[in-house]
Amino acid sequence: MSDELNLPVGKVLIDGVWSDPSSGEVITVLNPSDGGDYASIARGTAEDIDTAVASSRAAADGAWGAMPAFERGRLMHDLNRLILEHVDELGLMEARDVGKPLRQARADAVACARYFEFYAGAADKLHGETIPYLDGYSVMTFREPHGVTGHVIPWNYPMQILGRSVGAALATGNACVLKPAEDAGLTSLAIGELARQVGFPPGAFNIVPGYGEEAGSALSAHPGIDHISFTGSPEVGTLIQKAAAEFRRPVTLELGGKSPQVVFADADLDKALPFLSQGFVQNAGQTCSAGSRLLVEDSAYDQVTEMVAEKVSAMTVGPAERDMDCGPVINKQQFERVNSYLELAARDGLTTIGQAKLAANAPSEGYYVPPTVIGDVPADHRLAQEEIFGPVLSCIRFRDEEDAVRIANGTPFGLTAGIWTDDVGKAMRLAKRVKAGQVFINNYGAGGGVELPFGGMKGSGFGREKGFEALHGFTATKTVAIKHD
Ligand code: NAD
Repeated sequence: MSDELNLPVGKVLIDGVWSDPSSGEVITVLNPSDGGDYASIARGTAEDIDTAVASSRAAADGAWGAMPAFERGRLMHDLNRLILEHVDELGLMEARDVGKPLRQARADAVACARYFEFYAGAADKLHGETIPYLDGYSVMTFREPHGVTGHVIPWNYPMQILGRSVGAALATGNACVLKPAEDAGLTSLAIGELARQVGFPPGAFNIVPGYGEEAGSALSAHPGIDHISFTGSPEVGTLIQKAAAEFRRPVTLELGGKSPQVVFADADLDKALPFLSQGFVQNAGQTCSAGSRLLVEDSAYDQVTEMVAEKVSAMTVGPAERDMDCGPVINKQQFERVNSYLELAARDGLTTIGQAKLAANAPSEGYYVPPTVIGDVPADHRLAQEEIFGPVLSCIRFRDEEDAVRIANGTPFGLTAGIWTDDVGKAMRLAKRVKAGQVFINNYGAGGGVELPFGGMKGSGFGREKGFEALHGFTATKTVAIKHD
């Protein structure tokens, strides 16, 4: 466990106190850059989840629930500042935990702080309405917190996803129980510790690390939570939704993607190139919104794919702390999964047109997959259909606008899309027809976009996090009608 933030080893954070999990056991955490053990986190159990939910219920019904919105905002501002003071330590911790290059890991810490800043400012600005109604009535609406919210998050962007999900839930007065991913839970615990230090009331923000099938499933099936926010794989998303259905409670599902970047021949290629070549490499491709399908208009296909292939071939994959173009993938399972797609490509005669290099002296036990560009992938091939969650780009040709829309929409997913063209009309026609929660025209990712609602269509999930809209998801509208003649 990191000693930079003096986190106690192998504990759960419940009721503002670090304590042993009921299992008395820890989960060993690997550093994907060298495959070695480097930390351990608590193996939380259903019993710990029970305790955490009860503690959060008491907070929601007590000090936290009664706190004026602006005071909640102040606490969140304090947390934002404290996270910023610890960016270097948090960045290093995340780089070791997830394997992402240091600068990305630091950027994630800054983004996490920014979520708390954004939602701190929003805490006292969410309000209901008055509604003109029948004579003799006055009608108003209140936006009320759900109460206790559960948060199950993945390993790829722990700090960012914690910030956007827990940030919005706390701002609206919910008490949160967070279950971080078993592969990368350290920074979640660190942010929990910082929240404890700034003085969040006990139970407002509890954290129970543990395995998905154990602590995660206990949280999602717990009768005592009022809402669950899940970010992760479509398969587990289905389980979460089924568990929520038992209690008829609301769910936000942020699932995977197979997002297209659509490049027309009239696009400004120099501007597009960094986004096309980076969009699938960031975080070793383990990004739900990775631009992992490159759709290029026939007449520009050779030029664009050559440019991207050349750029990617100049990249280096290596240890997170050496801060290269790309780090390792998270673990052995993910390493084997991504390589199985590369083997499939070779078996099916698809051509690798560009591939990054492995850094000299990269530890042989690290989980390194060089970013790879595959040319002329048929749009219905598994490489063009399935979320690989690794640094693999599938290039696909299209004939015209109609063909581009058909291919862009031709997967089970609908998370994000990029459109590159100098023709505003074409860009807007496409933006309206593409099924995706976010569409970027002549950019990709919009620099993170804390303020911008984010979420899926189709198999990528539903509900929105980020932006002001997330506050609606973490509250319920209550209408009060007064008859007064
Ligand atoms: P995962 O679904 O395996 O795990 C996510 C979380 O769910 C972890 O905390 C895990 O412990 C927990 N979990 C696992 N089994 C569970 C169960 N039976 N019940 C309850 N919880 C359980 O996903 P992952 O491999 O960690 O992350 C990769 C996936 O997440 C990809 O599909 C990716 O696209 C998606 N993702 C989506 C977004 C988004 O915002 N849309 C962001 C990041 C990642």
